[in-house]
Amino acid sequence: MQTKLFIGGEFVDAADGATFETLDPHDGSVLAEVAEAKQEDVDRAVASAKTAFPRWSRLAAADRGRLLLRLADAIEGDAPDLAMLETCDTGHPLRDTLGLDVQRTAATFRYFGGMADKFQGTVVPVEQGFLDYVVPVALGVVGQIVPWNFPVMFVSWKLGPALAAGNCVVLKPSEITPLSALRIAELAADIGFPPGVINMVPGYGTTAGQRLVDHPDVAKLSFTGSSNVGRQIARGAAETLKQVHLELGGKGANIVFDDANLAAAVNGTAFGIFHNQGQACIAASRLIVHESVKDEFLDRLVALTSSIRLGDPKDPATEMGPLTSSLHRDRVRFYLEVAGDEGGTVLTGGKAPQDASLASGYYIEPTIVEIGPEARAAQEEVFGPFLVVHTFKTDAEALEIANGTAYGLGAGLWTSDLSRAHVVARELRVGMVWVNSYKRVNPGSPFGGMGVSGYGREMGFEAMREYTEPKATWINIDAALPPFYSR
Ligand code: NAD
Repeated sequence: MQTKLFIGGEFVDAADGATFETLDPHDGSVLAEVAEAKQEDVDRAVASAKTAFPRWSRLAAADRGRLLLRLADAIEGDAPDLAMLETCDTGHPLRDTLGLDVQRTAATFRYFGGMADKFQGTVVPVEQGFLDYVVPVALGVVGQIVPWNFPVMFVSWKLGPALAAGNCVVLKPSEITPLSALRIAELAADIGFPPGVINMVPGYGTTAGQRLVDHPDVAKLSFTGSSNVGRQIARGAAETLKQVHLELGGKGANIVFDDANLAAAVNGTAFGIFHNQGQACIAASRLIVHESVKDEFLDRLVALTSSIRLGDPKDPATEMGPLTSSLHRDRVRFYLEVAGDEGGTVLTGGKAPQDASLASGYYIEPTIVEIGPEARAAQEEVFGPFLVVHTFKTDAEALEIANGTAYGLGAGLWTSDLSRAHVVARELRVGMVWVNSYKRVNPGSPFGGMGVSGYGREMGFEAMREYTEPKATWINIDAALPPFYSR
């Protein structure tokens, strides 16, 4: 396992030899010592990306695509090890890292590998005698900063479109979960990505991350993380006027109408909030349930929630693991206290599990709390296995609660009324809506939010647009121009 920086096609130590530890959230033990990038290292990585850019961007798009397709194959070939690495670093259960995350990582690289030679320009029907063609051109060096909740997947979401479009990348993984990104860099080097096209600079936000934001040779900064850091990044990037793409927090609303298939809605609700211990920007963290079905729905949901198998994430039977860091566990506990102070009623969970074998890990039981929609725990992103419940009487009331936070990322609704599904979906102020489902993600479907959930989109053609600029070229074919100045 590589734990060095990946710069210019090689694994190297940090210039000052600094390292940091990454921990196993199951028991707090040290997993690895990882080289820590600081300003000098980020500068080296940006310089290497800048040197690689002219050749990479001029390579035939199909050749860039071929390398991405080979990377997808290599990730699938490495799936058992990569998934275990991700599980150890994040606490995300193996059944999910192996069954979902690593597969989605490969699928995303494959999608953008196929996209590379299909993302084409246009010809604009301008006045007679001129040909005006518009081609998408790569930006240059792209800086990318990702969080710790789905680290392996985010490498593909960021690298896939940026590389397909012809950019070179410097990616900073989270200091909490850097290992899978380094493994992907190793796989990419093995299959022949040219040196400098991909660089990985694990390190802290205020040092390595900040330098990527400030660096004058970085053309664009794509950031996934919290809304607070997103604000700082947008302010910092203004200095060099670099483009910014922000994928930030969420407070997903999940509306259950009285005509919903309750069995499906209960299952989807539990998955929506408790998958990955609730550490998902699109987590269904607010249940908004019609008062006439509330009692039955909550009885079933509490029964399902209390049966979720919590345990060592390396055990294939485990359905829910620990939170990814002790700091984050403490943050979730803080919100549990706040919810108590605000008069919330705990319906299930709310504690560390009793099982002594989990005592040194960062575990919290899946928790459901009934509380008013104005409460802090209902307005702020908790990012843990923590569901708040509200009730409503009318569709208008459900929408008002759903749209009643500053976030606008994802939302779900459960109904058997087709017309209601469309109307409510239309009125939800979010970037993604799931009807009779939750948390569907596909490399072809735009992913991103509104409000303090950020701007810009991952995935699909939208992601290719994020990493290119349209360039118009006008050719005078046969236009006889009237002279500008008649003499
Ligand atoms: P975070 O904002 O604390 O950190 C994210 C990344 O930014 C890390 O790599 C960190 O080192 C870096 N960073 C921190 N301060 C920085 C600075 N001043 N300059 C540059 N980089 C800096 O977020 P987190 O706790 O790692 O992740 C959780 C957050 O991410 C949640 O709010 C979650 O909703 C959000 N998220 C959003 C999406 C999305 O697609 N919208 C997806 C996943 C997670």
